[in-house]
Amino acid sequence: MFNKQTIKDLDVKGKRVLLRVDFNVPLNEKGKITSDKRIVAELPTIKLLMKKGAKIIICSHLGRPEGKVDSKFSLKPVAEKLSKLLKKSVLFTGKLVEPETKKIIKAMEEGDIFMLENLRFDPGEEANSPAFAKKLASVADIYCDDAFGVMHRSHASVVGVPALLPSCIGLLVEKEVDSFNKLTTTPKKPVLAILGGSKIKDKINMINNIFNFADKVIIGGAMAYTFLAAQGYDVGKSRVEQDKIAIAKMLLDIAEEKNVKVLLPVDHVVAQEFTFLADSIIIQTKGFASSDIGMDIGPRTIKQFKTEINKARTIFWNGPMGVFEFQKFSNGTRAVAEAVAKSKATTIVGGGDSVAAISQFGLESQITHISTGGGASLKYLEGNGLVGLNVITDKVEVE
Ligand code: AMP
Repeated sequence: MFNKQTIKDLDVKGKRVLLRVDFNVPLNEKGKITSDKRIVAELPTIKLLMKKGAKIIICSHLGRPEGKVDSKFSLKPVAEKLSKLLKKSVLFTGKLVEPETKKIIKAMEEGDIFMLENLRFDPGEEANSPAFAKKLASVADIYCDDAFGVMHRSHASVVGVPALLPSCIGLLVEKEVDSFNKLTTTPKKPVLAILGGSKIKDKINMINNIFNFADKVIIGGAMAYTFLAAQGYDVGKSRVEQDKIAIAKMLLDIAEEKNVKVLLPVDHVVAQEFTFLADSIIIQTKGFASSDIGMDIGPRTIKQFKTEINKARTIFWNGPMGVFEFQKFSNGTRAVAEAVAKSKATTIVGGGDSVAAISQFGLESQITHISTGGGASLKYLEGNGLVGLNVITDKVEVE
Protein backbone atom coordinates (compact mmCIF):
# COMPACT_ATOMS: atom_id res chain seq x y z
CA MET A 1 0.00 0.00 0.00
CA PHE A 2 1.23 3.45 -0.84
CA ASN A 3 1.50 5.44 2.38
CA LYS A 4 3.61 8.53 1.67
CA GLN A 5 2.26 12.02 2.01
CA THR A 6 1.70 13.72 -1.36
CA ILE A 7 1.45 17.36 -2.27
CA LYS A 8 -2.32 16.88 -2.67
CA ASP A 9 -2.65 15.98 1.04
CA LEU A 10 -1.09 19.15 2.46
CA ASP A 11 -2.31 22.64 3.19
CA VAL A 12 0.57 24.75 1.88
CA LYS A 13 -1.16 28.14 1.78
CA GLY A 14 1.32 30.84 2.72
CA LYS A 15 3.97 28.20 3.43
CA ARG A 16 7.48 28.15 1.96
CA VAL A 17 7.82 24.88 0.03
CA LEU A 18 11.27 23.69 -0.98
CA LEU A 19 10.58 21.76 -4.19
CA ARG A 20 13.38 19.37 -5.24
CA VAL A 21 13.09 18.85 -9.01
CA ASP A 22 15.16 17.17 -11.69
CA PHE A 23 16.02 20.00 -14.07
CA ASN A 24 19.15 18.20 -15.26
CA VAL A 25 18.36 19.21 -18.85
CA PRO A 26 20.61 18.57 -21.85
CA LEU A 27 22.62 21.64 -22.94
CA ASN A 28 24.57 22.22 -26.18
CA GLU A 29 28.12 23.66 -26.37
CA LYS A 30 26.66 27.17 -26.30
CA GLY A 31 24.83 26.42 -23.06
CA LYS A 32 21.40 26.35 -24.78
CA ILE A 33 18.77 23.90 -23.54
CA THR A 34 18.23 21.27 -26.26
CA SER A 35 15.18 19.63 -24.67
CA ASP A 36 12.80 21.22 -22.17
CA LYS A 37 10.94 17.95 -21.51
CA ARG A 38 11.99 17.79 -17.86
CA ILE A 39 10.85 21.36 -17.22
CA VAL A 40 7.52 20.81 -18.98
CA ALA A 41 6.98 17.59 -16.99
CA GLU A 42 7.32 19.56 -13.75
CA LEU A 43 4.73 22.23 -14.61
CA PRO A 44 1.70 20.42 -13.10
CA THR A 45 3.33 20.22 -9.65
CA ILE A 46 4.45 23.85 -9.78
CA LYS A 47 1.01 25.01 -10.96
CA LEU A 48 -0.70 23.01 -8.20
CA LEU A 49 1.58 24.62 -5.60
CA MET A 50 0.82 28.06 -7.05
CA LYS A 51 -2.91 27.36 -6.96
CA LYS A 52 -2.64 26.24 -3.35
CA GLY A 53 -0.94 29.51 -2.44
CA ALA A 54 2.54 28.21 -1.60
CA LYS A 55 5.73 30.23 -1.83
CA ILE A 56 7.76 27.97 -4.08
CA ILE A 57 11.52 27.59 -3.73
CA ILE A 58 12.84 25.33 -6.47
CA CYS A 59 16.12 23.46 -6.21
CA SER A 60 17.83 21.09 -8.65
CA HIS A 61 21.18 19.79 -9.81
CA LEU A 62 22.50 20.22 -13.35
CA GLY A 63 25.42 18.23 -14.76
CA ARG A 64 28.50 17.36 -12.76
CA PRO A 65 30.18 20.56 -11.52
CA GLU A 66 31.76 18.47 -8.73
CA GLY A 67 31.15 20.77 -5.80
CA LYS A 68 32.50 23.90 -7.50
CA VAL A 69 30.80 26.96 -8.95
CA ASP A 70 30.99 26.56 -12.73
CA SER A 71 28.95 28.96 -14.87
CA LYS A 72 28.63 26.25 -17.57
CA PHE A 73 26.25 24.46 -15.23
CA SER A 74 24.28 27.46 -13.99
CA LEU A 75 20.50 27.01 -13.73
CA LYS A 76 19.97 30.52 -15.12
CA PRO A 77 18.81 29.33 -18.59
CA VAL A 78 16.49 26.87 -16.85
CA ALA A 79 14.96 29.61 -14.69
CA GLU A 80 14.41 31.69 -17.84
CA LYS A 81 12.82 28.77 -19.67
CA LEU A 82 10.55 28.01 -16.71
CA SER A 83 9.53 31.64 -16.57
CA LYS A 84 8.58 31.55 -20.27
CA LEU A 85 6.62 28.32 -19.92
CA LEU A 86 4.70 29.60 -16.88
CA LYS A 87 4.33 33.12 -18.28
CA LYS A 88 5.40 34.31 -14.86
CA SER A 89 8.63 35.71 -13.51
CA VAL A 90 10.89 33.23 -11.72
CA LEU A 91 13.26 34.88 -9.26
CA PHE A 92 16.84 33.77 -9.74
CA THR A 93 19.95 35.32 -8.19
CA GLY A 94 22.58 32.73 -9.12
CA LYS A 95 23.08 31.87 -5.46
CA LEU A 96 22.37 28.99 -3.10
CA VAL A 97 21.27 29.77 0.48
CA GLU A 98 23.03 32.98 1.47
CA PRO A 99 21.88 36.03 3.46
CA GLU A 100 20.61 37.79 0.32
CA THR A 101 18.65 34.66 -0.71
CA LYS A 102 16.99 34.63 2.70
CA LYS A 103 16.00 38.28 2.32
CA ILE A 104 14.32 37.63 -1.03
CA ILE A 105 12.53 34.54 0.26
CA LYS A 106 11.25 36.50 3.25
CA ALA A 107 9.65 39.00 0.89
CA MET A 108 7.98 36.32 -1.28
CA GLU A 109 4.21 36.29 -1.64
CA GLU A 110 1.83 33.38 -2.20
CA GLY A 111 2.36 31.86 -5.65
CA ASP A 112 5.82 33.42 -6.09
CA ILE A 113 8.63 31.25 -7.42
CA PHE A 114 12.29 31.48 -6.51
CA MET A 115 14.95 29.18 -8.00
CA LEU A 116 18.16 28.40 -6.17
CA GLU A 117 21.41 27.93 -8.12
CA ASN A 118 22.71 24.43 -8.97
CA LEU A 119 22.81 22.36 -5.76
CA ARG A 120 25.99 20.61 -6.89
CA PHE A 121 27.92 23.91 -6.79
CA ASP A 122 28.23 23.10 -3.09
CA PRO A 123 30.27 20.00 -2.17
CA GLY A 124 27.83 19.43 0.70
CA GLU A 125 25.09 18.29 -1.69
CA GLU A 126 26.67 15.06 -2.92
CA ALA A 127 28.51 14.51 0.38
CA ASN A 128 25.14 14.71 2.17
CA SER A 129 26.58 17.23 4.59
CA PRO A 130 24.29 17.88 7.58
CA ALA A 131 25.31 21.57 7.53
CA PHE A 132 24.27 21.98 3.89
CA ALA A 133 20.98 20.15 4.50
CA LYS A 134 20.33 22.46 7.47
CA LYS A 135 21.00 25.51 5.32
CA LEU A 136 18.54 24.35 2.66
CA ALA A 137 15.91 23.45 5.26
CA SER A 138 16.28 26.87 6.92
CA VAL A 139 14.51 28.62 4.02
CA ALA A 140 11.42 26.37 3.98
CA ASP A 141 8.49 25.12 6.06
CA ILE A 142 7.78 22.04 3.93
CA TYR A 143 9.91 19.86 1.63
CA CYS A 144 8.48 18.34 -1.55
CA ASP A 145 10.43 15.79 -3.60
CA ASP A 146 9.52 15.60 -7.28
CA ALA A 147 12.91 14.42 -8.57
CA PHE A 148 12.45 10.67 -9.02
CA GLY A 149 15.72 10.35 -10.96
CA VAL A 150 17.82 11.11 -7.86
CA MET A 151 15.70 9.47 -5.15
CA HIS A 152 18.17 6.58 -4.94
CA ARG A 153 21.01 8.95 -4.07
CA SER A 154 21.93 9.85 -0.51
CA HIS A 155 22.42 13.54 -1.25
CA ALA A 156 21.66 16.41 1.12
CA SER A 157 18.67 17.69 -0.86
CA VAL A 158 17.25 14.17 -1.20
CA VAL A 159 17.65 12.63 2.27
CA GLY A 160 19.10 15.37 4.50
CA VAL A 161 16.38 18.01 4.13
CA PRO A 162 13.31 15.72 4.54
CA ALA A 163 14.82 14.49 7.79
CA LEU A 164 14.50 18.07 9.07
CA LEU A 165 11.13 19.21 7.67
CA PRO A 166 7.59 17.86 7.17
CA SER A 167 7.78 16.32 3.72
CA CYS A 168 5.79 15.03 0.77
CA ILE A 169 6.20 13.91 -2.82
CA GLY A 170 5.14 15.82 -5.92
CA LEU A 171 2.88 14.71 -8.76
CA LEU A 172 5.69 13.30 -10.92
CA VAL A 173 7.11 11.11 -8.17
CA GLU A 174 3.59 10.02 -7.21
CA LYS A 175 3.01 8.81 -10.78
CA GLU A 176 6.34 6.95 -10.84
CA VAL A 177 5.82 5.27 -7.50
CA ASP A 178 2.21 4.43 -8.33
CA SER A 179 3.18 2.80 -11.63
CA PHE A 180 5.94 0.69 -10.09
CA ASN A 181 3.81 -0.25 -7.08
CA LYS A 182 1.01 -1.45 -9.34
CA LEU A 183 3.54 -3.42 -11.40
CA THR A 184 5.00 -5.17 -8.38
CA THR A 185 1.94 -5.66 -6.18
CA THR A 186 -1.33 -5.63 -8.16
CA PRO A 187 -0.49 -6.12 -11.83
CA LYS A 188 -2.91 -7.49 -14.39
CA LYS A 189 -1.66 -11.01 -15.10
CA PRO A 190 0.24 -12.36 -16.94
CA VAL A 191 3.21 -10.09 -16.30
CA LEU A 192 6.10 -10.07 -18.77
CA ALA A 193 9.44 -8.45 -17.96
CA ILE A 194 11.77 -7.76 -20.89
CA LEU A 195 15.36 -7.24 -19.82
CA GLY A 196 18.31 -6.35 -21.98
CA GLY A 197 21.30 -4.05 -22.13
CA SER A 198 24.89 -4.73 -21.47
CA LYS A 199 25.47 -5.68 -17.87
CA ILE A 200 23.99 -8.03 -15.32
CA LYS A 201 26.30 -6.51 -12.73
CA ASP A 202 24.01 -3.62 -11.74
CA LYS A 203 20.80 -5.59 -12.19
CA ILE A 204 21.23 -8.77 -10.14
CA ASN A 205 19.02 -7.68 -7.23
CA MET A 206 16.42 -6.28 -9.59
CA ILE A 207 16.24 -9.49 -11.63
CA ASN A 208 15.95 -11.50 -8.43
CA ASN A 209 13.00 -9.36 -7.28
CA ILE A 210 11.34 -9.40 -10.70
CA PHE A 211 10.94 -13.16 -10.28
CA ASN A 212 8.57 -12.34 -7.39
CA PHE A 213 5.95 -10.69 -9.60
CA ALA A 214 6.64 -11.62 -13.25
CA ASP A 215 5.24 -14.74 -14.91
CA LYS A 216 7.73 -14.66 -17.78
CA VAL A 217 11.05 -12.92 -18.25
CA ILE A 218 12.64 -12.28 -21.63
CA ILE A 219 16.38 -11.70 -21.57
CA GLY A 220 18.06 -10.15 -24.61
CA GLY A 221 20.97 -7.83 -25.34
CA ALA A 222 24.51 -8.60 -24.23
CA MET A 223 23.12 -9.83 -20.91
CA ALA A 224 21.66 -12.86 -22.66
CA TYR A 225 25.15 -14.14 -23.48
CA THR A 226 26.13 -14.48 -19.83
CA PHE A 227 22.90 -16.46 -19.25
CA LEU A 228 23.53 -18.63 -22.34
CA ALA A 229 27.08 -19.24 -21.11
CA ALA A 230 25.57 -20.26 -17.75
CA GLN A 231 23.47 -22.83 -19.63
CA GLY A 232 26.67 -24.23 -21.14
CA TYR A 233 26.50 -22.68 -24.63
CA ASP A 234 29.60 -21.48 -26.41
CA VAL A 235 28.82 -17.89 -27.49
CA GLY A 236 32.09 -17.08 -29.28
CA LYS A 237 33.36 -13.57 -28.66
CA SER A 238 29.98 -12.20 -27.50
CA ARG A 239 30.08 -9.98 -24.47
CA VAL A 240 30.03 -12.33 -21.48
CA GLU A 241 30.62 -11.25 -17.89
CA GLN A 242 32.79 -14.19 -16.91
CA ASP A 243 32.60 -13.37 -13.21
CA LYS A 244 28.79 -13.32 -13.32
CA ILE A 245 28.20 -16.70 -14.96
CA ALA A 246 27.70 -18.40 -11.59
CA ILE A 247 25.20 -15.70 -10.53
CA ALA A 248 23.36 -16.05 -13.84
CA LYS A 249 23.07 -19.78 -13.19
CA MET A 250 21.76 -19.11 -9.69
CA LEU A 251 19.19 -16.65 -11.06
CA LEU A 252 18.01 -19.24 -13.59
CA ASP A 253 17.60 -21.76 -10.73
CA ILE A 254 15.61 -19.24 -8.66
CA ALA A 255 13.34 -18.56 -11.64
CA GLU A 256 12.68 -22.27 -12.04
CA GLU A 257 11.91 -22.66 -8.33
CA LYS A 258 9.45 -19.77 -8.54
CA ASN A 259 7.89 -21.12 -11.70
CA VAL A 260 8.92 -18.11 -13.78
CA LYS A 261 9.65 -18.91 -17.41
CA VAL A 262 12.88 -17.33 -18.69
CA LEU A 263 13.18 -16.91 -22.45
CA LEU A 264 16.61 -16.43 -24.03
CA PRO A 265 17.33 -15.71 -27.71
CA VAL A 266 17.25 -18.75 -30.00
CA ASP A 267 19.01 -17.05 -32.92
CA HIS A 268 21.40 -14.15 -33.31
CA VAL A 269 22.76 -11.54 -35.68
CA VAL A 270 26.52 -11.99 -35.38
CA ALA A 271 29.50 -10.05 -36.72
CA GLN A 272 33.26 -10.51 -36.68
CA GLU A 273 34.00 -7.01 -35.42
CA PHE A 274 32.21 -4.59 -33.10
CA THR A 275 31.59 -1.78 -35.63
CA PHE A 276 28.52 -0.19 -37.18
CA LEU A 277 29.51 -1.31 -40.69
CA ALA A 278 30.43 -4.89 -39.81
CA ASP A 279 29.11 -7.66 -42.09
CA SER A 280 26.70 -9.93 -40.31
CA ILE A 281 25.03 -13.31 -40.58
CA ILE A 282 22.24 -15.01 -38.67
CA ILE A 283 23.05 -18.10 -36.62
CA GLN A 284 21.20 -20.34 -34.16
CA THR A 285 22.25 -20.48 -30.50
CA LYS A 286 24.08 -23.77 -31.06
CA GLY A 287 25.95 -22.41 -34.09
CA PHE A 288 28.47 -19.90 -32.65
CA ALA A 289 31.95 -19.92 -34.22
CA SER A 290 34.73 -18.92 -31.85
CA SER A 291 35.08 -15.49 -33.56
CA ASP A 292 31.34 -14.60 -33.66
CA ILE A 293 30.09 -11.59 -31.70
CA GLY A 294 26.36 -11.50 -30.93
CA MET A 295 25.15 -8.01 -31.88
CA ASP A 296 21.36 -8.40 -31.99
CA ILE A 297 18.59 -10.97 -31.57
CA GLY A 298 17.67 -12.90 -34.73
CA PRO A 299 14.35 -13.11 -36.65
CA ARG A 300 13.10 -16.30 -34.96
CA THR A 301 13.72 -14.75 -31.55
CA ILE A 302 11.92 -11.57 -32.59
CA LYS A 303 8.92 -13.64 -33.61
CA GLN A 304 8.93 -15.56 -30.31
CA PHE A 305 9.34 -12.42 -28.19
CA LYS A 306 6.51 -10.70 -30.09
CA THR A 307 4.20 -13.64 -29.38
CA GLU A 308 4.97 -13.32 -25.66
CA ILE A 309 4.44 -9.55 -25.75
CA ASN A 310 1.03 -10.07 -27.35
CA LYS A 311 -0.01 -12.50 -24.59
CA ALA A 312 0.96 -10.27 -21.66
CA ARG A 313 -1.39 -7.89 -19.83
CA THR A 314 1.39 -6.05 -17.99
CA ILE A 315 4.82 -5.43 -19.49
CA PHE A 316 7.95 -3.95 -17.97
CA TRP A 317 10.84 -3.26 -20.33
CA ASN A 318 14.40 -2.32 -19.44
CA GLY A 319 17.39 -2.50 -21.76
CA PRO A 320 17.90 -2.85 -25.53
CA MET A 321 17.92 -6.22 -27.30
CA GLY A 322 21.13 -5.49 -29.20
CA VAL A 323 23.63 -2.80 -30.09
CA PHE A 324 20.79 -0.53 -31.17
CA GLU A 325 23.04 2.53 -31.53
CA PHE A 326 24.33 0.86 -34.73
CA GLN A 327 21.39 1.01 -37.13
CA LYS A 328 22.28 -2.34 -38.64
CA PHE A 329 21.87 -4.01 -35.26
CA SER A 330 18.78 -2.14 -34.08
CA ASN A 331 16.11 -4.43 -35.59
CA GLY A 332 15.55 -6.49 -32.46
CA THR A 333 15.20 -3.45 -30.21
CA ARG A 334 12.93 -1.72 -32.72
CA ALA A 335 10.71 -4.79 -33.11
CA VAL A 336 10.36 -5.17 -29.33
CA ALA A 337 9.72 -1.43 -28.91
CA GLU A 338 7.02 -1.49 -31.58
CA ALA A 339 5.38 -4.60 -30.19
CA VAL A 340 5.36 -3.15 -26.66
CA ALA A 341 3.92 0.12 -28.01
CA LYS A 342 1.21 -1.72 -29.95
CA SER A 343 0.27 -4.02 -27.09
CA LYS A 344 -2.97 -3.44 -25.18
CA ALA A 345 -1.19 -4.29 -21.91
CA THR A 346 -0.19 -1.79 -19.25
CA THR A 347 3.34 -0.94 -20.38
CA ILE A 348 6.14 0.49 -18.28
CA VAL A 349 9.51 1.38 -19.72
CA GLY A 350 12.38 2.22 -17.37
CA GLY A 351 16.10 2.73 -17.80
CA GLY A 352 18.01 5.17 -19.98
CA ASP A 353 18.57 3.12 -23.12
CA SER A 354 15.11 1.60 -23.52
CA VAL A 355 13.60 5.04 -22.94
CA ALA A 356 16.01 6.41 -25.57
CA ALA A 357 14.97 3.63 -27.96
CA ILE A 358 11.26 4.36 -27.47
CA SER A 359 11.88 8.02 -28.16
CA GLN A 360 14.20 7.29 -31.14
CA PHE A 361 11.42 5.21 -32.74
CA GLY A 362 8.77 7.88 -31.96
CA LEU A 363 6.63 5.59 -29.78
CA GLU A 364 6.45 7.61 -26.55
CA SER A 365 2.73 8.37 -26.73
CA GLN A 366 1.88 4.65 -26.94
CA ILE A 367 3.48 3.64 -23.63
CA THR A 368 1.49 3.71 -20.37
CA HIS A 369 4.40 4.94 -18.25
CA ILE A 370 7.90 5.97 -19.26
CA SER A 371 10.02 6.36 -16.16
CA THR A 372 12.05 9.54 -15.78
CA GLY A 373 14.60 7.80 -13.57
CA GLY A 374 16.92 5.19 -15.07
CA GLY A 375 18.97 4.18 -12.03
CA ALA A 376 16.15 5.04 -9.61
CA SER A 377 13.61 2.83 -11.37
CA LEU A 378 15.96 -0.17 -11.33
CA LYS A 379 16.78 0.46 -7.68
CA TYR A 380 13.07 0.73 -6.79
CA LEU A 381 12.42 -2.58 -8.50
CA GLU A 382 14.89 -4.24 -6.13
CA GLY A 383 12.01 -4.05 -3.67
CA ASN A 384 13.51 -2.03 -0.82
CA GLY A 385 12.10 1.40 -1.63
CA LEU A 386 14.44 4.32 -2.29
CA VAL A 387 16.43 6.27 0.30
CA GLY A 388 14.73 9.49 -0.78
CA LEU A 389 11.27 7.97 -0.62
CA ASN A 390 11.66 6.02 2.60
CA VAL A 391 12.44 9.27 4.45
CA ILE A 392 9.26 11.10 3.31
CA THR A 393 6.58 11.66 5.97
CA ASP A 394 3.90 8.95 6.03
CA LYS A 395 0.31 9.81 5.20
CA VAL A 396 -1.89 10.47 8.23
CA GLU A 397 -4.44 7.63 8.30
CA VAL A 398 -8.02 8.87 8.60
CA GLU A 399 -10.15 6.41 10.59
P1 AMP B 1 22.62 -0.95 -20.11
O1 AMP B 1 23.30 0.35 -19.80
O2 AMP B 1 23.06 -2.08 -19.25
O3 AMP B 1 21.12 -0.83 -20.23
O4 AMP B 1 23.13 -1.34 -21.56
C1 AMP B 1 22.85 -0.62 -22.72
C2 AMP B 1 23.89 -0.95 -23.74
O5 AMP B 1 23.88 -2.33 -24.03
C3 AMP B 1 23.70 -0.26 -25.09
O6 AMP B 1 24.72 0.67 -25.27
C4 AMP B 1 23.79 -1.40 -26.09
O7 AMP B 1 24.60 -1.08 -27.22
C5 AMP B 1 24.45 -2.48 -25.29
N1 AMP B 1 24.19 -3.82 -25.86
C6 AMP B 1 23.02 -4.38 -26.11
N2 AMP B 1 23.18 -5.57 -26.70
C7 AMP B 1 24.51 -5.77 -26.82
C8 AMP B 1 25.31 -6.82 -27.35
N3 AMP B 1 24.74 -7.91 -27.89
N4 AMP B 1 26.66 -6.69 -27.28
C9 AMP B 1 27.21 -5.59 -26.74
N5 AMP B 1 26.51 -4.56 -26.23
C10 AMP B 1 25.18 -4.64 -26.28
